[in-house]
Amino acid sequence: MNILVINCGSSSIKYQLVNSERETILAQDAIELTTDVGPALALAQLIDDTQNETIDVVGHRVVHGGDAFRDAVLINAEVVAQIEEWAPLAPLHNPCALTGIEAAQTALPKIPHIAVFDTAFHATLPRRASHYAIDTKLAEKHRIRRYGFHGTSHQFVALEAARYLGRPINELRLITLHLGNGASACAVEMGSSTETSMGMTPLEGLVMGSRSGDIDAGIIFKLLRDEVNDVDALDDLLNLRSGLKGLSGLSNDVREIEAAAASGHDEARLSIAVFAHRIKKYIGAYAATMGGVDAVILTGGIGENSANLRQRILQRLEFLGIQVDEDNNQHAEVDHQNKVACITTENSRVPALVVKTNEELMIARQTIGLIRQQARLKTDLSIPIAVSARHLHLDKHTFALLFGDDAEPTHHADLSQPGQFACKEKVTLIGPRDSIEGVRLLGPLRSKNQIEVSRSDEYLLGVDAPVRDSGRVKGSAPITLKGPKGSVRLNEGLICARRHIHMHPDDAERFGVQNKDEVEVAITGGPRDLIFCDVLVRVSHGYQLEMHIDTDEANAAELDKSSNAELVYVGIQGRTALLKNLKTLPSGD
Ligand code: ADP
Repeated sequence: MNILVINCGSSSIKYQLVNSERETILAQDAIELTTDVGPALALAQLIDDTQNETIDVVGHRVVHGGDAFRDAVLINAEVVAQIEEWAPLAPLHNPCALTGIEAAQTALPKIPHIAVFDTAFHATLPRRASHYAIDTKLAEKHRIRRYGFHGTSHQFVALEAARYLGRPINELRLITLHLGNGASACAVEMGSSTETSMGMTPLEGLVMGSRSGDIDAGIIFKLLRDEVNDVDALDDLLNLRSGLKGLSGLSNDVREIEAAAASGHDEARLSIAVFAHRIKKYIGAYAATMGGVDAVILTGGIGENSANLRQRILQRLEFLGIQVDEDNNQHAEVDHQNKVACITTENSRVPALVVKTNEELMIARQTIGLIRQQARLKTDLSIPIAVSARHLHLDKHTFALLFGDDAEPTHHADLSQPGQFACKEKVTLIGPRDSIEGVRLLGPLRSKNQIEVSRSDEYLLGVDAPVRDSGRVKGSAPITLKGPKGSVRLNEGLICARRHIHMHPDDAERFGVQNKDEVEVAITGGPRDLIFCDVLVRVSHGYQLEMHIDTDEANAAELDKSSNAELVYVGIQGRTALLKNLKTLPSGD
């Protein structure tokens, strides 16, 4: 699929044509808008430029989606009305996006148009971060809260950083710094935005090219009383004539300011110092709100290009574990091919990474994600549930101790997962409080003992077993097993199995999930609506599609062997997939 991403601003239309196969950029450019060239003409030129390529779908960047949009959305009249509704909070951006949408819909009427919002990534801000400490009713009335911006960029660089570090994003606490003409910081905790420096509008937070960022609200009263004539003039002052431009009296461009500073211009030096200091302050604050930090990421025109500012921002953060390698910093170069450069020393506990952002690509990903999700919704996707009764897996040695040296596991019934079978052999679990008889062995024998029980079983036995993925038994709970030929005391092996979904890679592709994703599964249609959180996805060629829950969980959901629940929602850090028609099946035993 070819996705045309359009970012329509007040002075230019930026576009990228992206092929979804390998995320190849087929074409990209910026067309300046003038009095002679409006969006309609620019779009005609753009389509002309890309005429050798088909366009399957258009993704539009929209700055302010307020609290109406948590995800990308197919544009219809209602969506247009909502974007209009939020325009007063982004007067420079939303109206331009709407003009672009209208022109593009006219030029390309037959394909879907999708809106992707800068605010959507921050929809996960906890209340403590999104609320301003003003009268709650007043805040609600005027929708005053922190929405945050630059979401597509923060999300993109966080994902790239996780990939570079070779760690799942849901294990990381990242501070992402988007430093362009507009600038913002974000605390990305386990893949979700939990703090960000821009607020109800893009004016709050860091010092920017021409915006002040944080100021004492008292300054506004003072200026309104003693300096400016009206609110618009003040808006102009703080949005267009402040920040680096206001401080330096020269320019909003860091290149010019750095050159002036190098030749001794005092205000230029001051503006650089204030800019870097503010960012450092936010790094400290976000490390505190997240209870630590695993990496700091710098992006945007300044973050990607100014070694001098990077050095100023990160110096004296050794106490946080950040140790800049000055050589790496001076020579860091990133582009759309080599997206990441590490600028800290090998021994730096917390790496600092320069990452080339690509908001258009992130918009393309979200656009294609929505198209795929809608296609999936049209197909019937059933996931059978198997209720997994207590059972155990044994190693050869323990099996021999319990059932005799010459014994072999005997086949009782095949299980739904290929190659697995229930055995005739059963054992007794003996805990400090009570024992459970007749716990069935599953074959074939494994390299490690693993005894899987439910929470109620644990209570009965009097043990506290950890909730674990199958296979991770190190440090799990001890238990005594009794068989016909003897007893064995195991120091570890007892777990409460984590609920999970087995998937063949083809299923994973269909559902849009990957191995080790943690998904939320909402089960409706039964007697009780219920969401199972932290359901682990396990993908292997040897698996058949099936969700495994234990008897306690099945009871909680009031599932029985005849129920017909529907799985309707799966949320995966930042990605969302919709599933439906989950059927329950009898378990293997
Ligand atoms: P926008 O927020 O408009 O998308 P960018 O992310 O492209 O902006 O950042 C533009 C800013 O990046 C410029 O105004 C300039 O301050 C800074 N910049 C770009 N290149 C360099 C460079 N080589 N050295 C220092 N600063 C740079």
